[in-house]
Amino acid sequence: MSIIDMHIHLINRSRCSKLAPEQIQHSISNRIDGICITDHFIVAPLRSLNSFGIEVAFGSEISSVSGHILAYGITSVPSKHLNTKEVIKFIHNQGGVAVAAHLYSPNHVTQESMKDDVFNYEFDAIEINGSVAKKYNKLARIAAQIMDIPTIGGSDAHSVNQLNTFGTLFKNPIKNIHDIVKGIKTKQCRAMRI
Ligand SMILES: [Zn+2]
Ligand SMILES: [Zn+2]
Repeated sequence: MSIIDMHIHLINRSRCSKLAPEQIQHSISNRIDGICITDHFIVAPLRSLNSFGIEVAFGSEISSVSGHILAYGITSVPSKHLNTKEVIKFIHNQGGVAVAAHLYSPNHVTQESMKDDVFNYEFDAIEINGSVAKKYNKLARIAAQIMDIPTIGGSDAHSVNQLNTFGTLFKNPIKNIHDIVKGIKTKQCRAMRI
């Protein structure tokens, strides 16, 4: 069993983030076994995070016409000109998984949250997002049930006080990004409050 925060933005890699790696190291809850960094259109690992003492994996948050998509298990990011279906296909072609982020969030502009458009696409999971109010996360859970795909959880932290809200409980121990992808593909995971 492992608990992973699947959605974190770092300073200098995501324009919107003030969160430094050292702050994560000092402030991350000891209930969390690992984190996944998901900066916008960047998937390259940061070596300085190797000494964190918890597992650190790298995914990316990709903008599509319909909304933000979290990608795990990719080694390169798609071009910014692909449509939603093409982005998901790009992720799947690399053996990765595509997750609809902050699905019904009213805090995000229309182009960032997919809402019911999610039903038109082949997603592998739906995110329960720590920066989104409960009633909107509930709608995301219902969508996951209808689509028969798992939920994952992430804080979407952009600053230190946004950490430790939601994570993903994986039934199996998570040692790297491949374990994360496998856990989602086999539906052996669910979002949980930290
Ligand atoms: Zn987003
Ligand atoms: Zn984000």
